[in-house]
Amino acid sequence: MRAAILHQANQPLTIEEVEVSKPKAREVLVRTAFAGLCHSDLHMMEGLYPYPVPVILGHESAGVVEAVGSDVTYLKPGDHVISCLSVFCGTCANCTTGHPNICDNTEVKLLPGAARRYSWKGQVVHQFANLSSFAEQMLVHENALVKVEKDIPLDIGALVGCGVVTGVGAVFNAAKVEPGATVAVIGCGGIGLSAVNGAAVAGASRIIAIDTVSSKLDVAKQMGATDVINASNVDAVAAVKDLMDGIGVHYSFEAIGHKVTAEQSFAMLRPGGVATIIGMVPYGTKIELHGADFLRDRKIQGTSMGGNRFRVDMPRMLTLWKQGRLKLDHLITGHIKLEQINEGYAQLKSGAPLRNLIKFDS
Ligand SMILES: [Zn+2]
Ligand SMILES: [Zn+2]
Repeated sequence: MRAAILHQANQPLTIEEVEVSKPKAREVLVRTAFAGLCHSDLHMMEGLYPYPVPVILGHESAGVVEAVGSDVTYLKPGDHVISCLSVFCGTCANCTTGHPNICDNTEVKLLPGAARRYSWKGQVVHQFANLSSFAEQMLVHENALVKVEKDIPLDIGALVGCGVVTGVGAVFNAAKVEPGATVAVIGCGGIGLSAVNGAAVAGASRIIAIDTVSSKLDVAKQMGATDVINASNVDAVAAVKDLMDGIGVHYSFEAIGHKVTAEQSFAMLRPGGVATIIGMVPYGTKIELHGADFLRDRKIQGTSMGGNRFRVDMPRMLTLWKQGRLKLDHLITGHIKLEQINEGYAQLKSGAPLRNLIKFDS
């Protein structure tokens, strides 16, 4: 099968013929239908997060089950599935206390470099995030998959597999935004727009979307933003406070992964407010906060993949999409071929598209 391989940071991916192993007891072989070009993969391509190479990146995907291992009962060939990098064991302390997204069982959630599922020219090709979606086939643990109805378009399914579950999940699971609360979202890519839309579904009374690209702010309005701020012209913190009678918001979400915007997300909170950092702040970067801001019950927290319980959350989110409440179609810029992946990422770096998805020929 064909896959896009990263051989070294800051080099283009190359499309190669890759060997995939047969499913072991609890593994599932999936024929990939769509894989989204998520910003997080770019961190590996640019060397901002360490990862062993060569590696097949990609972690936002959906497809059809081709084969299952001898112990798999949850799925059978022909089932439609969404993948999630939050593979869980179901029995560790994190899983059994309601936090399967931070499962720490390394027999299921393999550490970087541990998987031996793919090879190229006789050498191991590493699996990224227990998935490796930029490939025609994925060999994954069954607990990295959720089964979905066959009427769900698989490009919508793929989006739900990372960007949507992360952004909407940050609102529902991590921050638990309540009806009437006020919200600000910094960064209106696929994840930030999902947070905007999630806040609308949660019943927030004001939803302030912040970005430097005006076309993204237009989409934010269609997805539920009540106010928009173009941060290329103004100071985002001052502008949010202006809109909020000088006080700030109850909940802020940082969906870029920059030091400055992470600091801004905390600075724009009202007393008692909660800032949630969704973006991947580059490895080793420190953020600085004013200590006095903590005196009035302000909080800042991280969230991994929207604090998901994805086998519950993803079908719910797809129901909200069917009802027209999650407006996920707005997030899709277009479909591209696997061979166009480098161009697709160049475009993403330029800030233009929301989500391009690789459409695999089945
Ligand atoms: Zn992602
Ligand atoms: Zn676990």
